[in-house]
Order: sequence, then structure tokens, then C-alpha cells
Amino acid sequence: MAETIVVVVVGAGVSGLTSALLLSKKKGYKITVVAKHMPGDYDGEYASPFAGANIVPMAEEKEKRWESQTWKELKRLVEEVPEAGIHFQKCHILHREHDLKNPAGFPVHAFSPTPWYKNIFDDFRELPKGQVPDGYDGGCEFTGVCINTTMYLQWLAGQLLRNGVQLKRGIVADISEAKNLSHTGKPASIIINTTGLGSFKLGGVEDKTMYPIRGQVALVRNESTPMIICSGSADGPGEELYLMQRAAGGGTILGGTYDIGNWDTNPDPNVASRIMSRIVKIRPEIAGGKGITGLSVIRHAVGLRPARKGGVRIEKEKLDDKTSIVHNYGHGGYGYQTSYGYAEAVVELVEDSVQDIKGPVSKL
Ligand code: FAD
Repeated sequence: MAETIVVVVVGAGVSGLTSALLLSKKKGYKITVVAKHMPGDYDGEYASPFAGANIVPMAEEKEKRWESQTWKELKRLVEEVPEAGIHFQKCHILHREHDLKNPAGFPVHAFSPTPWYKNIFDDFRELPKGQVPDGYDGGCEFTGVCINTTMYLQWLAGQLLRNGVQLKRGIVADISEAKNLSHTGKPASIIINTTGLGSFKLGGVEDKTMYPIRGQVALVRNESTPMIICSGSADGPGEELYLMQRAAGGGTILGGTYDIGNWDTNPDPNVASRIMSRIVKIRPEIAGGKGITGLSVIRHAVGLRPARKGGVRIEKEKLDDKTSIVHNYGHGGYGYQTSYGYAEAVVELVEDSVQDIKGPVSKL
């Protein structure tokens, strides 16, 4: 009988689903995804549904691998797989000199007047002064994407089912428990930990370098392009300004906040009012010139970006002689735009781990 490697992925956010998807395309793996929250849920402990989501590379140039690899796949999905719920959208990235000198919000690499990422987008150009709104010192334009996260997470789950992966609910108290959660009934040789902020308290991991970056947003029915992403706003540190229209009737996300260390998942009505005011000031036409009252709100929401001091944890470790853990968590505000890069690294680490495991692996 052929040797089959039993794998349990803990977590069903964009990191877990993408890792499982790429692994399921390889022969010889029986994969179960176990998670407290699944696509379709909205919960402060589950970051993925709350993202815009777009790709505005935030890494330093030396870390460009993750975003560059992911961009190629997102672009392919727009062109070839419309049911994934992603579309192309022009992006305007605006910066204030003040934010570049006093970073307090989004990573400043994204707003450099000469970003490394200008070479990965076909139509990157600096915005002429006349197209830079009042209050901002410069900007650039390129065609990126906006993902309808509701649709895209469901699409990822559907791809997994098609590839024979099983999905099940479960709360894991200690990462070692995952060894016994495979749908095959056999012990897992490989556990993939993609629990995001859950890794802060997950037994056997308890990574205290994890911290939340609170993001409050408003989702509205109004439509408006191009996308706008600003380095900061006149309302102070952590009060961001961004707008992106999701694909396929997903509404338009108005952002937002970047509140480091704040675990509160309740939307604050004062913050909501400031977010909407900033949007109708910079883009009055989104509300037909009627100000906030012209916005048709679907919901106000808060997600916690799963950030980690020192960046993403992408590495393998031994649980015991027959089991390895591959970690892939801590993607902060860039989990979608790096998802395929890190999932490719997960596949490489799984393949290395299989070689490391002493003795026979589970046979089915
Ligand atoms: P999560 O989505 O949080 O998933 C964690 C999974 O682990 C869940 O299924 C959870 O139930 C499970 N889990 C946790 N603990 C346990 C346990 N003990 N037992 C069982 N299951 C467990 N990124 C972009 O690339 N572009 C954007 O435009 C963007 N915008 C954003 C805007 C906002 C407002 C927010 C909040 C985030 C944004 N992000 C964006 C960041 C992105 O959403 C995250 O980086 C990404 O969703 C993290 O995915 P994840 O799978 O690692 O974690």
C-alpha cells in the first residue's frame, strides 16, 4: 500500500485554507482542516472576513518574495477564475511626508515615493501633482486587485473539498491535540499551525510576541473607484483613510483604523463617524455629494490583524519523533497579499519535515 502522510491544518483563515490548497495539489497527503471559525463566520477572533482585501505591498524589499509570488497567482485568478470573487482595480496610494517621518500606522514601505514594488505592476506610475488630493504630498497609481473576502474564503473551501480535503469544526486547547484530529482516524505526522492571533494563547505555542492591530471599517452599498489607500489622516495616529470596492457585489470597504495593541472588537460609533467623514471629504461623489447621509451602510465591523513582533513565523519544529509542526501565522495586515508566497513555503517545510520524521509514517 502506498505511504500516505496524514496532515492536520489548524485554522481556516486565508493562511490555513491557502496552505491546505497548495498541499492538496501534491500527491500522497490526507488533509483535515480543523478550526473554531470557518468561512461564513464573523468573529473578532477570525481576521480573514474583515480584510478589504487588496494588495499594496508592505514588506521591505528584502522580504519581497511573499508579495511578488502572491501577486502572480492573484492576477491569474482574476484572469482565469472569475468565481473566486477577485477583480482588478486601479489603486491610488497617497502619502504625507509627516507619516513617512513619524510612522504610526500602516508600514511606511508601502508609501515610499520610489517603492520596490513598482517593478511588479505593469502600469505603475507616479501621480501628477494635480491628481494628488489636498492634504497629501504625493502618490502613485497601479492596477491591483480587490478581493471579495466573503466569496473568496468560500471558494477556497470549495477547492479543498474538490481535492479531497475534509473540513471540521474544533477548538484545539493544545497544538499536540491536533495529532488526533484527522478524519482518517490515524495520527497526523504533520500539523500545520495557522491559528493567527489564536497562537497567543494556544497551548504548546503561547506566542506572546503576537499582538492585535485593531481595524474598524464600514461596509457600504455605494460604489466608487479608484481604490484609495493613504499613509495616515489629519484625525491623528492610527486613524487611517482607505476605500476599496469589492468584486461581485461585495460592497465597498471604508477604512479605517490601525490601532496597535487594542483587543476591543466592538465598533466605536465615534470612530465610525470619523471614518465616513474622511471618505466623503476625499471622495464626495461616493455619496452623491450628500455627505455621510448619502452612504448606505451594510455594517460597521472590527477585525484584529494578527501581528507578530519580528514578522511572520514560518518554520518547522518537532512535536515528537513521529510528528512535526509547521507554523504559518502572524501576517498582520498583509495576510491575503502574501498568502500564496507563505503557502508555498509551507509546502516546502512539510516536504522537509516528512524527511525528518523518524520511523514509519501512518499508512492508510
Ligand atoms: P485568521 O483569519 O484569524 O484565522 C485563524 C483561524 O484559526 C480561524 O479559523 C480560527 O478559528 C482558528 N483558530 C484560532 N485558534 C484556534 C484554536 N485554538 N483551535 C481551533 N481553531 C483556532 N490583508 C491583506 O492582505 N490585504 C488587506 O487589504 C487587508 N486588510 C485588512 C483589513 C482589516 C480591517 C483587517 C482586520 C485585516 C486586514 N488584512 C489584510 C489582514 C488579513 O485579514 C490577515 O492577515 C489574515 O486574514 C490572517 O489570516 P489567518 O488565516 O492567518 O488568521
